[in-house]
Amino acid sequence: MISITDALSITKKNIPPPKMQEYLIEHSVEKYLSKDILAPEPSPRYTNSAMDGYAVRWEDVSDASKENPAVLSVIGESRAGIPFKGRVEKKEAVRISTGAMLADGCDTVVRVEDTLESDDTLQVMAVKKKGQDIRYKGEEFNVGDLLLHKRTKISAPQAALLASVGIASVKAYKPCDVAILVTGSELVSAGESIADHQIRDSNMIMLKTAIQEAGGNVVSCLRISDNKQATIDAIGQARADIILCTGGVSVGRHDHVKDAAEANDFKPLFWRIRQKPGKPLYFAKKEKSLLFGLPGNPVSAFMCFTHYVRPVITTLNGLPFGWPTVSGESTDDIINNGKRTNMIRVQLTWRPNGGYCISNTEKQGSHMLTSLSGADGYIILEPEQILKSGERIDVYRYDFRREPV
Ligand code: AMP
Ligand code: MG
Repeated sequence: MISITDALSITKKNIPPPKMQEYLIEHSVEKYLSKDILAPEPSPRYTNSAMDGYAVRWEDVSDASKENPAVLSVIGESRAGIPFKGRVEKKEAVRISTGAMLADGCDTVVRVEDTLESDDTLQVMAVKKKGQDIRYKGEEFNVGDLLLHKRTKISAPQAALLASVGIASVKAYKPCDVAILVTGSELVSAGESIADHQIRDSNMIMLKTAIQEAGGNVVSCLRISDNKQATIDAIGQARADIILCTGGVSVGRHDHVKDAAEANDFKPLFWRIRQKPGKPLYFAKKEKSLLFGLPGNPVSAFMCFTHYVRPVITTLNGLPFGWPTVSGESTDDIINNGKRTNMIRVQLTWRPNGGYCISNTEKQGSHMLTSLSGADGYIILEPEQILKSGERIDVYRYDFRREPV
């Protein structure tokens, strides 16, 4: 048996480099950029009007007031998409729409509200300063400026920014492929009829959801009975960056995952960790494919997934190996009386002036799914470690409970 620290360092060392791929921007949403994006165009692309009004020359209107309006002739119009082709000379103006290109010769825009127009004669009755209501070419950014950092997640505003400068595709990290293999002759699905001696399969839907929440791509979901040849065949046929098995990884006569992995030339990297829950976790590698054998107990499977598999998924997706954590203060003494490192499910409560406080979920059995569904995260206590009431500790937060509750 090895420690959690050793198991994590073996895991981290054996993660292949992330894969990258060119994506059309509509397919890049939720992915992370694999390189910096520099602006290929300036923004704004051309000097334009910020208002509906008239493009004028400052020297013709600088003294304009309600009592003494500047009088100009309107010689044309610059519309969004249809610019004015000529040049504005002394005492001339053009009508201009928001976003339309500023006409040659003009340096100022007056708003419609500050003017009166009849028969192509314009009276300008108020003006504040030279250059007012103009958006200048490149005032937001210029060609070559950094727009988005490597590892930025593409969401709506980032996709819009890319589109706004004419970038139709980007290089991003390719989400890793995960194949799920659930083992157990006792298992039936939620919708099927069940005999007294059978168990409902909760790991399949749990892992599928957790993989997706972690950013992985589920490529296959298969359930098989505890049969050695079936397990060998299923592992042999799985095509994924990570093969995620559950059940069949302990010392029972019908536990075949380890043998089946090794029959497929996977090299074992560790089996059994000094932790509770999740002691029987198995990890193996074949070329660039990783295989995790999670214990069958749903809580153990989820805890092993969260602490070991999730950071592998994020690393393969181009992000750091790590966990989302938050510091919390214990409301009770919490003690680990056992011989193994304990991952204890906890609830977080937000106190407006005191940050998070932590309370222990009551029933912590590794077969008790309510110890997960009602928890916000978990803390890790070494054997004999006592977390005193009032002491602070890092809480590893579950993906499904990231907002304060
Ligand atoms: P195993 O690791 O295969 O020995 O399974 C340990 C315990 O977890 C047994 O009680 C199994 O019935 C239960 N179990 C295994 N796989 C699942 C599953 N997919 N869903 C729910 N319980 C399971
Ligand atoms: Mg089993």
